[in-house]
Amino acid sequence: MKSKKVELWFITGSQHLYGEETLKQVESDSGTIARALDRSDDIPVNVVFKPVLTTADAITSICLEANNSPDCAGLIAWMHTFSPAKMWISGLKRLHKPLLHFHTQFNRDIPWSEIDMDFMNLNQSAHGDREFGYICSRLRLERKVVVGHWQDKEVLRAIGVWSRAAMAALDARSLKVARFGDNMRDVAVTEGNKVSAQLQLEYQVHGFGVGDLADAVSKVSDKQVNALVKEYGDEYNAPAKVLSEPAIREAARIEAGMRAFLEKGGFKAFTTTFEDLHGLVQLPGLAVQRLMADGYGFGAEGDWKTAALLRSMKVMAAGLKGGTSFMEDYTYHLDPKNMAVLGAHMLEVCPSIARGKPTLEVHPLGIGGKADPARLIFRTGTGNAIVASMVQMGDRFRLIVNSMKVVECPPMPKLPVASVLWKPDPDLKTAATAWIYAGGAHHTGFSQALTAEHIADFASMTGTEFVLIDGRCDIEQFKKELRWNDIYYHLNMG
Ligand code: MN
Repeated sequence: MKSKKVELWFITGSQHLYGEETLKQVESDSGTIARALDRSDDIPVNVVFKPVLTTADAITSICLEANNSPDCAGLIAWMHTFSPAKMWISGLKRLHKPLLHFHTQFNRDIPWSEIDMDFMNLNQSAHGDREFGYICSRLRLERKVVVGHWQDKEVLRAIGVWSRAAMAALDARSLKVARFGDNMRDVAVTEGNKVSAQLQLEYQVHGFGVGDLADAVSKVSDKQVNALVKEYGDEYNAPAKVLSEPAIREAARIEAGMRAFLEKGGFKAFTTTFEDLHGLVQLPGLAVQRLMADGYGFGAEGDWKTAALLRSMKVMAAGLKGGTSFMEDYTYHLDPKNMAVLGAHMLEVCPSIARGKPTLEVHPLGIGGKADPARLIFRTGTGNAIVASMVQMGDRFRLIVNSMKVVECPPMPKLPVASVLWKPDPDLKTAATAWIYAGGAHHTGFSQALTAEHIADFASMTGTEFVLIDGRCDIEQFKKELRWNDIYYHLNMG
């Protein structure tokens, strides 16, 4: 998950009009800004300074180079001086990496008593960046515009958020999702067009019969099982009596087999389905939980869209405080004074969102007709969080985000699964109404590390529709937004 291999390229536009001396100063100032971004703790990747661009050929070259570089996650562009934007058309038309337009200025303040025409000629981004903005808009180029001085904390934060989305978009280009079994029968929202997904979101979805997984599980040695069971004892609250249960050893066997299968195939996300477990003794619960904690994306019941989304969210959240998990709106508390959602799944909630040490237990499942599965049980710390859902609307993918507050949950001594209690923004009634109008799924990616802005940036980069349900959500306005988006995406496809 360490991202220091990933690069963002800092490019600066100018032109020859101003003479050598000014261009040298442009180069020096840009280098200073690029190095400051590179050093910033907010930006989790390398920011690489590139030579100042003064010709159309140089601009096109760097765009093509960025496309071809496997480590380049995107470009940060700034016009220190005026850079006539016809020079940018050819390059930007060919650019297939995310673009951030950084509208900054080297000097924070105008030096009132010193300012002269040399200063004016050097510090032209106030109008130079508008020329660049025009051509981006004219090309209908998706990009993020960040405005402010390069040492401004808020500016660095916004670039950092975008950097994380760019990391996820780069990761998606090589992402492979493994499906063990098909979608749960007759479920609509977990379906979708995998060719469209690959065209739009770049990741590949590979299907396997669950027998392939059962085969990998059968090859796991007792020695591997013993080592994993010992690890469980070290990491979780698990009395020796529990650790010696056959169900725990079977869960360890499934984990080792599943991990080996995923590693061998280079998969970073996967799905299971409790309707198709032939050859597996129990539904993979503990294995899924532990793989998610290691950065794998997961979707239950064959939900490959959520598996891929969760992987992208894990990449965006790497190194941030707070966990990220597969989630489902499970059941409601509809007390008018205190409405809340209880989120959970049958088993598969990621322990990265656990408050304290999870407890390892074995309980019957009630559905699926298999042996009692092992699972980690825990609660989640209170505070801000989001849920995000990826659905396919036929002609496009839509990302729906709801911001929320995780709240304290009363004891539930008879509920043997990990769970989270939350109050959605702006309130449960409005949030659920909007979510349902938007066609949001019951499966989501839940995160206490990410904000809606991460997902919005990721949506922009991947050409995905984005709708937000937050504290300002107004249902009538939201319904109009959905209708307008329908027209926009219809027209935008040409
Ligand atoms: Mn489910």
